[in-house]
Amino acid sequence: MGDPDGVIAMTTDIVFHELFTKHVLQLGHPESPERLITALKYIREAGLFDTDSVNLVTAESTNLNAIHPLHHQSYLEQIREKSEKGGGFFTLDTSVNEYTYEAALLAAGGGIMAVDRVVEGLSTNAYVLCRPPGHHAETARAFGFCFINNIAVAAHHLTSECGVERVLILDYDAHHGNGTQNAFYDRDDVLYIGMHQDGRTLFPGSGFPDEIGSGKGRGYNVNLAMYPGAGDVSYHLAFEEVIEPLADSFVPDIVLVSAGFDAHFEDPLTNLGLTTAGLAMINSKVKNIADKHSKGKIVTFLEGGYNLTAMGRGSLNLVEVMSGSNVTQFNDSHKESNTCTEYNEKLIEVLKGSILDMHL
Ligand SMILES: [Zn+2]
Repeated sequence: MGDPDGVIAMTTDIVFHELFTKHVLQLGHPESPERLITALKYIREAGLFDTDSVNLVTAESTNLNAIHPLHHQSYLEQIREKSEKGGGFFTLDTSVNEYTYEAALLAAGGGIMAVDRVVEGLSTNAYVLCRPPGHHAETARAFGFCFINNIAVAAHHLTSECGVERVLILDYDAHHGNGTQNAFYDRDDVLYIGMHQDGRTLFPGSGFPDEIGSGKGRGYNVNLAMYPGAGDVSYHLAFEEVIEPLADSFVPDIVLVSAGFDAHFEDPLTNLGLTTAGLAMINSKVKNIADKHSKGKIVTFLEGGYNLTAMGRGSLNLVEVMSGSNVTQFNDSHKESNTCTEYNEKLIEVLKGSILDMHL
């Protein structure tokens, strides 16, 4: 769609499906359907669906061939069988109900649909508002509330089916994206950058700065293991000193994001210190990277976020940033300690002296 001046209008897809809210772990589990319902409520009540710049798109399922490169067939069968039986556990906190298998395929399919639409120019960027989340899911292992690694499936689809040469994945969920890291650990066409709470203090206990990739993937796996309490100041510094220079060197064709609103200071499961404005700052920084290198192409996948207010506000700000709308200001505030800032400054220096040196 062009306007009279020939300027392409910017549009943001929100990819959703009702079945994402039917998948339920145990009663009272923090990874709840209310997370999506709240996010949609904030976006709807702000009037964004009434504008031409935001489209609500219904996720479509995918062919298993798109998932098999990332997950063993026998493992996918286990999810299907447990779902067909009406329920079952993989770990104490990661279980299925009768809708989980179908919802997981729709989440992965929604991601493929989102990247296809962005690559084809049908939309500028997209927010895949899905459950179950994906970034902890391993090749043959459900883990950390995740079953199929949605962002990894999409990144592999882009490089194998869409002729995309370089994918930047930025994962700012509070927990390390172990599944995504492992999926691309020996590849140089997918640059994984994780910013998360130090694994010595939080699940899944991985994601340290010396995990830098292997073989030709050496230097293409970056972990900013943030000191507990890290907030807006440290995240801003990490972008300026590490992430933006890395993106300038890598020149991604598209940017994929694992968004986790559990990096907010009020999240009940984690100990990071971002404010809602800090999360919006991250999304603005991502948008600047995509505008500079990738013709604005971004697809963001929802991962965690267990404080419903932070989920709603963060999702609204994310869509506002991506669609070029005015960003609603929320007045939550949190100041990180000087000790925390100093620790993170040292971490950033270590990464500049190691991984950044490999790229520059
Ligand atoms: Zn998380």
